[in-house]
Amino acid sequence: MTFKEFNLKSELNKAVEVAGFTQPSPVQEEAIPAVLSGRDIVAQAQTGTGKTAAFGLPVLNMMKCTGNVEMVVVVPTRELAIQVSDELFKFGKFLNIKTATVYGGTSYSRQIKHIQNAGIIVATPGRFLDLLSKNQISIDPDYVVLDEADEMMDMGFLDDIKEIFKYLKNRKQTLMFSATMPAPIKKLAQKILKDPHFITVTKSEMTNAKITQSFYVVEEYERDDALIRLFDFKNPSKAIVFCKMKRDVDRLSTYLVSQGYSAKGLHGDMEQRQREEVIKAFKSDTLEVLVATDVAARGLDVKGVSHVFNYQLPFDSESYVHRIGRTGRGGEEGMAVSIVTPAEFRSLHKIQKDVGSNIESKIVPNKSAIKDKAVIDLKNSIKEIEIDEKIYDFIDTLKEDFELSTITYKLATLLLKQTKINGKDNIGKTKKDIEFLLKRAKEGKGGGGNSRGRNRSRNRNGDRNRSGGDRNRSRNRSGGDRNRSRDRGGRY
Ligand code: ADP
Ligand code: MG
Repeated sequence: MTFKEFNLKSELNKAVEVAGFTQPSPVQEEAIPAVLSGRDIVAQAQTGTGKTAAFGLPVLNMMKCTGNVEMVVVVPTRELAIQVSDELFKFGKFLNIKTATVYGGTSYSRQIKHIQNAGIIVATPGRFLDLLSKNQISIDPDYVVLDEADEMMDMGFLDDIKEIFKYLKNRKQTLMFSATMPAPIKKLAQKILKDPHFITVTKSEMTNAKITQSFYVVEEYERDDALIRLFDFKNPSKAIVFCKMKRDVDRLSTYLVSQGYSAKGLHGDMEQRQREEVIKAFKSDTLEVLVATDVAARGLDVKGVSHVFNYQLPFDSESYVHRIGRTGRGGEEGMAVSIVTPAEFRSLHKIQKDVGSNIESKIVPNKSAIKDKAVIDLKNSIKEIEIDEKIYDFIDTLKEDFELSTITYKLATLLLKQTKINGKDNIGKTKKDIEFLLKRAKEGKGGGGNSRGRNRSRNRNGDRNRSGGDRNRSRNRSGGDRNRSRDRGGRY
């Protein structure tokens, strides 16, 4: 199927071409005609499958270009607001439709001014509700989109969203997009949407088939060593390392820098400008490794992320899907690597069951495996590299002292010596260990390991609720600046 078959305006077809899209993704194939038919839609598809275009293109096609705000997209975070706004701007460029972003933490007046020239607003719930409720903007959009709806629920925006809809009474069409479809989302959809048409991507497509998933079993104290070893083995060109806690992000990013990697952390405690700088560096390839919490990296769309590492497994299967969806974007290949302790086996098992995809068990390579790989890498580099003109003179001077073959052996030795391998030789569990541990976990035995895992995860949820409370408290304290206080309140 081609984009032409949707019979979109020529300006949109042109924008699609400029964007380099040749074939609609499955969610686009289903959602674009459905949105064009005028119905309310709830669409579920994995991250990175092109949901933005799935609602953006048909709505842009229906917009009358009156110069007023005709479309509002509500998204969970500032980063996503910027990202979605950029993507929609790209599609609307030849129709001369401008987009405005609205989020907390920056000047009200500038945002209000931008809104006056915009056909589309992309907003986070807190600031948007602020502007609406204080009568700072008067808009009457025909189309309202809730994007990444599951994330908004997770972040506690349900009440804000219900409130927002009170101000958008004349809308003609409401669309909801989400990577997962838990019960509260369905309930919200039934409440806010009119006779919605549900579009769901099947479970086997929950995660992108182009993402290879594996896990390595280690003891808690071996996580750092395992991560470094896997970096050395896999040579990621661009990697995101996910941690559960902000303090792990800080510690691990500092440690990686000390080990010679170009790494930076990203979490909710950082100032907005700092976060934007880190994301910019990561996008422009000046940064190799981004160490992030789930919340900070939600929906982040960076091209060319070769690897996602789970330093620890996430709290739930949905987060796992979100995390690994940061790689393998736009049809590229991707690798998702999880570092797992025996106490995490229950989570691992649940993720495997929920996601329905194969996560392969692997052994952390030992030093000699890395050395073997260095030899192969060197061989490939020798094949590929072109000889630099200046080198002839250099070799001639060497030839005054050595045989050519001796020079070759010495140079190769020198190059291979440069593969520094840190840590002890064997890291993590052997194949036999893993089989035994997995079997025990399945049988529900495991000398308390299993039940310990259960208790621990319950504690985690408790912590989560507690930090949710913090969030609310800080929200009340600082009033309008919801987004920031929300991020600052929690541990993630
Ligand atoms: P989602 O919202 O489902 O996570 P996005 O809308 O952010 O996905 O799209 C992910 C990436 O894929 C973006 O970089 C987007 O430009 C690209 N993309 C979307 N649709 C297509 C397509 N049909 N062909 C090629 N690339 C696409
Ligand atoms: Mg999206």
